[in-house]
Parts: sequence; C-alpha cells; structure tokens
Amino acid sequence: MEKTNVVTRFAPSPTGNLHSGAYRTAIFSYLYARKHGGTFVLRIEDTDKERSKKEYEDNILESLQWLGLEYDVFVRQSENVARHQAVLEQLIADGHAYISKEAAKDGSGIIKEIIRFKNPNVDISFHDEIKGTVTMNTTDLGDFVIAKNITEPLFHLAVVVDDFDAGVTHVVRGEDHVSNTPRQILIQRAIGAPTPIYAHLPLVLGLDKQKLSKRKGALAVTEYRDLGYLPEALLNMVAMVGWNPGTEQELFSKEELITAFELSKVQKSPAIFNAEKLNWFNREYIKKLSSEMFWQHALSFVPNEYHNNDMLKKLEQLLRDRIEKFSDISELFAVGEFDYFFNNPTIDEKMLVWKTLKDDPEGLQKTKIYLKHAGELLESLTDWNYENVKNTLTPYAEQEGKGNVLWPLRVALSGKEKSPDPFELAGILGKEITLARIYGMV
Ligand code: GLU
Repeated sequence: MEKTNVVTRFAPSPTGNLHSGAYRTAIFSYLYARKHGGTFVLRIEDTDKERSKKEYEDNILESLQWLGLEYDVFVRQSENVARHQAVLEQLIADGHAYISKEAAKDGSGIIKEIIRFKNPNVDISFHDEIKGTVTMNTTDLGDFVIAKNITEPLFHLAVVVDDFDAGVTHVVRGEDHVSNTPRQILIQRAIGAPTPIYAHLPLVLGLDKQKLSKRKGALAVTEYRDLGYLPEALLNMVAMVGWNPGTEQELFSKEELITAFELSKVQKSPAIFNAEKLNWFNREYIKKLSSEMFWQHALSFVPNEYHNNDMLKKLEQLLRDRIEKFSDISELFAVGEFDYFFNNPTIDEKMLVWKTLKDDPEGLQKTKIYLKHAGELLESLTDWNYENVKNTLTPYAEQEGKGNVLWPLRVALSGKEKSPDPFELAGILGKEITLARIYGMV
C-alpha cells in the first residue's frame, strides 16, 4: 500500500494494568493507521512520576505484542521533558503563557510559580469523526494551568507537543478527553501546530451498563492470555466493541479488520464489553487451530504426568468440544473428568443396571448378558472408530432398549453416570481396552 501521512497513536498512562476494553483505543488507532498505510505511534505517558510504574509499561508492551498490534514508533513522554520545557519557555516569551505566583493550596503559605496559559476566550470548533463538529466556548476555563513550574509541564502541554512532534494526524481516544480538546487546540494554535482530526470513542461499559472495570469482567489482556484465550479472539472481540462493518460477519482476522474498519462506523452510543461473547469468539478460533497448534496451547494446562501418555492426543476432539478457554482443561483434569481414559475405573456393579431394570430381581444378570453381547458384536469389528462402533451396536441397542445396552456400556467404560456417549468413549479407548473393560464386568 502507498505510504500516506496518516499518523495515529495510542497514549496510555502506565498507572495500572489496563483492562481489555481500554485496548479498543489501541486497536482502532492501529487499524486506521494500517488501513491508510500510515504510522502507528505508541506513546507511554509516564509524566506522573508517582503513579507511573515500569511494570505497567511492560504490561502494555506485552499486551500489544500478544495482540499483534505492532507499532512503528515508540516514545516515552518523560524523555521529552526538555522539549516540553523549551516550548513552555517559548510560550512565555511569546506572551501566550505567564508565570503566576500563587499560594500553595495546602495552606502552608508557600508561594509557587505555576504557569498559566493566557486564554483568548474564544469559541473552539473541531471536527470529530464520530461526533461531527464540536463547538465549545473556552471562557469558563479561565487561564488554565499548563505546568506546575518551568520544569514540570502538565498533561495538556505534553500531549500537544508530543502529538505535534510525531506528526499525529488523527487522535483516537476516549470520550473522557472531549472536554480537554479545546484547551489542547488553544495550545496548538499558540505553538503553531496543526489541529489533528479527532475521534473520541464513546465509553465502554459492562453488561450492566455501568462503568467497565476489571471487577465487572473485563480482565487485563495478559490475564486473558494466561487463562488460555487466543489473541485472535480477543482482538476480534474488542474490535467489535462499539464498531461493526454493518454486515452479519462477526469473525475477522486482523487483515480483514484492517480492510473493513471505518472510524465513521463507530457507534455513537456507549459500547458494551460482553465478556461472555469472548468465550464464543474463543471457541470459534479454537475450532480453526491445527492439531499441532491446539496442543501447543493445551499442553501447559494438562498435568505433567499425562504429557507423554498416548491416550492424551486421542482426547483432542473431546477437549475442543468441551472448552471455552484452554485453562478449562486444568479444571477438567482437576475434577478427575478424564481419569478413566488413563486408568481403569473401579465400578460398583450395581451401577451397571439401567433404571427400568433396577426393581427386577434378575436386572443385574440381564444387564451382564446385554453387555457381554455388546462385547461379542464389537469383537468382530476391525476398523475401530466412533462411527463403526456406533453402527455395530445401534441395531442391537434398539432391539433390546437403548438404556439396557448403552447405559451399562457407558458405566463399564467410564465408571461414571455422566460421560461422553459410550460410542465416543469406545472410539477413544480403542478396541483392546474397551473389550477388557466390558468383559471385566460380566
Ligand atoms: N494518557 C491519556 C490516558 O491514558 C491519553 C491521552 C490522549 O489520548 O490524548 O487517558
């Protein structure tokens, strides 16, 4: 694609691990830049020294990498402080800002030299790709503060200077920044910076329509990763929080998202982050995995003792059908769900008897006859698989009553009342183990 001058940025403050909904801003900025052959800038806004932490910055980098959102330029705001200071001095020299000696708010009597912007008190209009034209009068803002002192510029100044220096053409960010925009435009005008195009994204809310938080189900990206969600699933899901291309299509690869994405199609009303929907996406992406990739993700959730057991790989389809995320595998193993695939179950033979035979004094004896006959039918089967086991036993089960034949078969093979259907059990266990377990009970 032809290179254009489109430059977007994601400018998180590393003051906590962001929840996944917050990465929507990164995703939209990224998609827009890629769609237009532009540049995507990651700017870590770490000027708040007390609240910014390296570990949170690391988490942001890790999350973006995992989601596949590669950036072209990396900037750490704290490293631009000299430049911010130079701009501040220029603003003062030009009469756009001034030093104001004011008593500290803490009542200590200390006089501070804060820097205020000389507000021209005008109407500011700007174009917003989502909201249309926004006009605000700035008079009420007064001469707002742009730096704590000459060496400590504040947020508005830093954002404007850094966007200007990076040549940012499109500012995609949360709606909570709309009210900051007029101040930032006044600063842009004072330093001779062009005003970018804005796209203020409506809030992301939880299913309860309340402010989204980690407690409300939106975990950090790395938490979803550690639970065994696939990056393609989370990317796809978050990209569709408040945006859709206006078609029925829900599954989009990153490349398809780049092609389909339009800022103008971002919805104006608050968007809902539905963590349940992520499970649906994840299952869809798990279905697409090759066997090799499936096990690459799955193996770390399987207890070590089973890693080299031949039976494990045979459970692939069963696992694919059962899980929403890979960590579900740990839980299935932890509750002993698959023990009977690896070890012969201990079975109380009374359990073999189907409910309608329970009151029959000869119920157990009859059950054993059904089970033995099922074994005999299976003995002649050479091509052993789910379908063939099913086709071999179904006519007999229909003749004698499905429960009478299939119930004891399930119990003999699994030792459980609830399990995958007995054909599937037999298919996975193989001929030898299946017959041994059947004959072991009769
Ligand atoms: N650092 C700001 C935040 O995390 C974003 C600033 C911006 O996008 O202009 O909310």
